[in-house]
Amino acid sequence: MRIALVSEHASPLAAVGEVDAGGQNVHVAALATRLGALGHDVVVATRRTSPCAPSTVSMAPGVEVMHVDAGPAAPIAKDQLPPFIPEFAQALRRAWAFRPPDVIHAHFWMSGWAARSAAPPRTPVLQTFHALGTVKRRYQAEADTSPAERSQVERELARSVDRVLATCSDEVRELLAMGADHRRIRVVPCGVDLARFHPDGPVAPRVPGRARVLAVGRLVPRKGFATLIRALPVLEHVELVVAGGPEHGALDADPEARRLRALARRLGVTERLVLRGQVTRREMPALLRSADLVAATPWYEPFGIVPLEAMACGVPVVASAVGGLLDSVEDSVTGLLVPPRDVEALAGAVATLLSRPWLRARMGSKGRARVERHYGWGRVAAATVECYRELAGTLAPAVGR
Ligand code: UDP
Repeated sequence: MRIALVSEHASPLAAVGEVDAGGQNVHVAALATRLGALGHDVVVATRRTSPCAPSTVSMAPGVEVMHVDAGPAAPIAKDQLPPFIPEFAQALRRAWAFRPPDVIHAHFWMSGWAARSAAPPRTPVLQTFHALGTVKRRYQAEADTSPAERSQVERELARSVDRVLATCSDEVRELLAMGADHRRIRVVPCGVDLARFHPDGPVAPRVPGRARVLAVGRLVPRKGFATLIRALPVLEHVELVVAGGPEHGALDADPEARRLRALARRLGVTERLVLRGQVTRREMPALLRSADLVAATPWYEPFGIVPLEAMACGVPVVASAVGGLLDSVEDSVTGLLVPPRDVEALAGAVATLLSRPWLRARMGSKGRARVERHYGWGRVAAATVECYRELAGTLAPAVGR
C-alpha cells in the first residue's frame, strides 16, 4: 500500500524532549518504520525547519521523509504554525497529484486540516489527534496558547474524516462529545519497541544509598514534575531524576527548569532533584532500567508513551489516574494510580512501592507481560493497517519492493 503519513510539526527525524517534540515524533517514527518493514511504501510529510534539510530523506527501508516548504525554513513554535497550513496543504496537493497515496493518515489537528483539504477525491483520510484542544483548554485555561481555530477545526475533522484513530477510551468519550460518529472511530493505542525497551540490558549508574524515582517528558508544567518535587520532602533517601527538556547545558535558560529548581530550593530538596535535560532514544532504556519506579504524574494525558516504555523495561509505574494512563497502567497490578496533582496520595504511593521490593518486582514483570500483550509495535502497526484496509478495501495486498 502507498501510505502518506502527515506530521506537520513533529518530524520523525527530530530529537525529542523539548517543548514541541515528544510522543508524536516517537510515534510517527515507529509507525512509519514498522509499516515500511511490512512492505508498504511510506512517505512522511513534515514541515521543513532548516534550509539545509534535503527535500527527501530515506529514514528506514520503505520509508521516506519529505520536507515540505511552508513558511520560514526555521523552527517555529507549533502554536504559531496555522498561517502556513494553506501553503503546506498546497505542497501536499502537488506531491499527491504526482504520486497518489492509497491512504492518508494525519497526525495532530493541523496535519488533519492540511490533509483534508489536499486529499485527492476518494482517497481515505484517517486522523490521529494525539491531543485535543478542548481537553487542553479545560486543564490549562488561560495558559493555553493554542490557536483560536483549533477546537473548531478538530470538531470538523472529527465529523468529516473517514476514520478517527483514538489512542484510548477516554479520547473516545471526548470525540463522541464533539459529535464524532462512533462507527467511524477505532481505538488504536500508541506502541512501544519491545526489543529496545526490555528488562535486560545496560543500566545507567546510580547514587549509592538513594532510591531512584524517574520522571520523563517534555519540560512543560502540565507534565506535573512540580507535584513530584512537592512530594520529595517526605520521601527521604529518594532522588528524583527528571529526563527531558533541552540538552543539559541549556537547562539554565529553560523557564520550566528554572521554575522547578526554584521550587526545589524553597522546599530544601535541591540536592535530591536531578534535571538531566534531553536524553537520547539510545540512552533511555538504560536510564529507565536504573529506576526503582517511574512516576508519570501529568495533570492530564492524551496517551502517555513513557509508562509503556517503563513497563516494557520491567519497571513499576506510579501514574495519575487520567486519560490514556487509565488504559495502560493496571492499578495495583502494573503500578499504582493516584489522583492528579495530589501530593499526599503521590508520596504515599511512591513510599509504598519503595518499601516493598517484592511488590515492585511483581508489578515490573506484570507490566512487561501487559505491554507484550497489548502494546508491542507489531500489534499496533497491524491494527493500524487493519484500519487502512477497511477503507481501502479494494486494494491488492501489500507487495514487497
Ligand atoms: N523522550 C526522550 N527523551 C527525553 C524526553 C522524552 O526520548 O529527553 C521520549 C520518551 O521516552 C517518550 C516520548 O519522548 O517516548 C514522550 O512521549 P509521551 O507520550 O510520554 O509524552 P508527550 O510528549 O506525547 O506528551
